[in-house]
Amino acid sequence: MIVILKNGTPQEEITRLSQEISETWGVKVEKSVGKHKVVLAMIGDTPSINPLQIKGYSPWIEEVLRVQQPFKRVSREFRYGEASEVVVPTPNGNVYFGENHPIVVVAGPCSVENEQMIVETAKRVKAAGAKFIRGGAYKPRTSPYAFQGHGESALGLLAAAREATGLGIITEVMDTADLAAVGRVADVIQVGARNMHNFSLLKKVGAQDKPVLLKRGMSATIDEWLMAAEYILAGGNPNVILCERGIRTFDGKYARNTLDLSVLPVLRSLTHLPIMIDPSHGTGRSEYVTPMAKAAIAAGTDALMIEVHPNPAKALSDGPQSLTPDKFDILAQEMAVIGKVVGRWSERALVGSI
Ligand code: PEP
Ligand code: MN
Repeated sequence: MIVILKNGTPQEEITRLSQEISETWGVKVEKSVGKHKVVLAMIGDTPSINPLQIKGYSPWIEEVLRVQQPFKRVSREFRYGEASEVVVPTPNGNVYFGENHPIVVVAGPCSVENEQMIVETAKRVKAAGAKFIRGGAYKPRTSPYAFQGHGESALGLLAAAREATGLGIITEVMDTADLAAVGRVADVIQVGARNMHNFSLLKKVGAQDKPVLLKRGMSATIDEWLMAAEYILAGGNPNVILCERGIRTFDGKYARNTLDLSVLPVLRSLTHLPIMIDPSHGTGRSEYVTPMAKAAIAAGTDALMIEVHPNPAKALSDGPQSLTPDKFDILAQEMAVIGKVVGRWSERALVGSI
């Protein structure tokens, strides 16, 4: 249940009211400050409470509403319809993810293979306008015999790429045992599709401070995905970005997955969290990445994740879906056209400044 306060409610009244509600009803009260409204969210056994009783507690209360969805903190209602933003400090400055900000581009190889390739790729994607370099140190692979990632040493290489470019780092954590090490290097911690249902990992990333990129499980419904995000917010970390990366459907012959772009308007109505689209894993084929990236921008995405590798034919993972840096340059130009039309593109101030 949420309590929407009138504009200008004094701070002392917010504190008094929160205490009164919490003590009377044995619920936790969390304050959320939006651009337009202050909302007090009541967490706990609220079904037995009559909203009208709460309304009488203060003349500053505008409205008391029940959150109807099973996911509470991530629901759009929870913030009274306002989008949230995830602010990530990077050496090049703060990067803002969210509906009211320019589209953020994240690019880089599937796996961190060696220092030269990650640093060179970082320089190239930065020059094309990306704000983050991505790359896996710990890789979830279908086969135990496939390249598993270089582990902790690759985290050091990501740090070198950040040092060289000032880009933020996004990298995946697979195991709670590696969370501290990943958290020391990553500016955003990725939870991959295969771990979206790993509730103990979700609780752990919820209990630490770094923003989390939560990929959609390959067979996860939207409700399951949002409940996974709810675990992270319930753990105390409000900084979650949702990433659609394709789902399994009946036809996997021509594309690796079915990129579900309909999540953009659907999620927009259900949640306040920022949304990213990953057309690389979503299609599995480099030639399909550009059209789907452009479609995602037209459909309202807040961010994109694109796999870029200096030599895709030799990549240790996901080569077929990776763009070369040259192709990524062209993609960046094409994305800019659509991005400007929808009013979500920032000028590439950094071009040529490496
Ligand atoms: C990745 O980002 O390289 C990755 C493994 O993604 P996903 O979890 O979406 O398969
Ligand atoms: Mn990959």
